[in-house]
Amino acid sequence: MEKYDFIVLGAGLAGLSFAKRMTENGYSVLLLEKEGQVGGISRTIRKNGFYLDFCAHRFHSNNKDLLNEVLSLPGLKMYKHIKKSRIYMFNKYLKYPFEIQNLLRAMPVTKSFLSGISFGLNLVTKVFRKKRIRSYKDWFIHFYGKRLYDVMCYPYTSKIWRTDPADIAADWADQRFQGENMAKLLKRIIKKIVTLDFSKYSIEDDSLAPDGGIFYYPLKGIQELPDALNSFSIKNGAKTICSAVVKKISRKSRTVSYSHNGRTFTKKYGTLISTIPLHAYYSLQDRKDRKFEETLSSLKYMDIIFVYAFLNRKNISNDHWLYFPDKEIIFNRAVEFRNWSPKMCPEGKTSVCFDVTAYEDDEIWSMSDKEISDRVLEDAYGVDYLKRGEVYSTLVYRLKYAYPFYDLDYQENLDKVVHFLEDEHSYLLGRTGIFRYNNADNSIEMAFELADNFLKKKDKKSIYKYEIRNFSY
Ligand SMILES: Cc1cc2nc3c(=O)[nH]c(=O)nc-3n(C[C@H](O)[C@H](O)[C@H](O)COP(=O)(O)OP(=O)(O)OC[C@H]3O[C@@H](n4cnc5c(N)ncnc54)[C@H](O)[C@@H]3O)c2cc1C
Repeated sequence: MEKYDFIVLGAGLAGLSFAKRMTENGYSVLLLEKEGQVGGISRTIRKNGFYLDFCAHRFHSNNKDLLNEVLSLPGLKMYKHIKKSRIYMFNKYLKYPFEIQNLLRAMPVTKSFLSGISFGLNLVTKVFRKKRIRSYKDWFIHFYGKRLYDVMCYPYTSKIWRTDPADIAADWADQRFQGENMAKLLKRIIKKIVTLDFSKYSIEDDSLAPDGGIFYYPLKGIQELPDALNSFSIKNGAKTICSAVVKKISRKSRTVSYSHNGRTFTKKYGTLISTIPLHAYYSLQDRKDRKFEETLSSLKYMDIIFVYAFLNRKNISNDHWLYFPDKEIIFNRAVEFRNWSPKMCPEGKTSVCFDVTAYEDDEIWSMSDKEISDRVLEDAYGVDYLKRGEVYSTLVYRLKYAYPFYDLDYQENLDKVVHFLEDEHSYLLGRTGIFRYNNADNSIEMAFELADNFLKKKDKKSIYKYEIRNFSY
């Protein structure tokens, strides 16, 4: 039976990056991917001359070595962009990241006054506060105050996650923002105050946000990144099989059985790396446990529906994306691909992706494609983002396992799940594989770290405790 040093389940960025590092060092790697193309969540689909990502996929990393390694991948050319985005609040399009002054001015006067006071008071009182921060609600109020929580955090968060922020673990915010947001925000406000700079912006201004930040993006969709990683590894001897249906994993005999093109194969592994959803991974195991299944069922992923609209128009706005926190609007973001690269759309046309978060068992997920795209378009007309009649076609795509959902007990349950699923010959990896809410660069970084653990620190291989050290917006 053919044997590989590593069999990797899933050819998203994590699986591909792991394969890159190990094949560079002479190990044999087999990647098994269920979809017809590599890339996982960082994939681009093609339709009638359009290149369509899964919503926004900006690439950036504060890890300089990683960034250089990615940017110098053979065949990959990424272009630098300065992030440009806006947020629709109080019936206005505001710059994003926020200018706090802008936000306060856009709000109804009383709300603005009370939020300003609450924000200021909170800066002083939070130093003395001892309360344990457990939920995202606790976290937000601790940093920004109760009023801003009511205005900003509650509506958007409960809309995206369909859950009260009081029931979402604070870890989510910590991993997402790492307090950086706060420091940046304060620095900006202080600078404005010191320089008496209160007059230079207008609420509707769409010029660059002051710290919009840079990111990198290829010409024809984020797909170019996983494709480049894959080509690199294949040149070094890796084997990638797309449209592979993994049937069974036997931990005892260290084999994986899968079918491809109507034939079934069984391969032996030295070590198995799983980047696929935890539930899918468990269902393939030959070892079952009732109690474990209960724990596993408490961990859930959130799904997402993308509605793409195609327009006979050069462009809609200059933004890379816009946020729509209002609960009455069904979508969370609108991403216009032409602003990422003109090659993403045929000449004279543009496309926009609206994302709608959902769980498989809720009513949004069960809406038909027509119902969901009609509702999205109605809402886009309602906020003057699109004009009636200018959309000539739509496409709906449903992505499962898009976001790991952190409820208040998730960490404890995840510890048990990882303990059950990992052993000295099998490891979990990646955003989906270890249930970690992270960006693309983090999936690559943790894959490189896990690979380094095999190459150098042979006694401590699991990457489960990977921490997002260099969060990049
Ligand atoms: C809507 C959205 C927008 C995002 N925007 C950004 C952004 O702007 N910038 C950024 O840096 N990051 C962004 N991210 C995060 C980024 O996309 C992910 O961190 C990264 O792509 C995760 O890669 P991964 O390999 O860890 O996981 P995945 O991409 O989930 O890889 C898992 C792979 O396993 C495969 N698989 C699943 N089941 C099986 C099976 N049974 N057998 C074989 N294969 C299987 C999947 O098809 C997939 O290819 C975004 C994520 C989402 C959901």
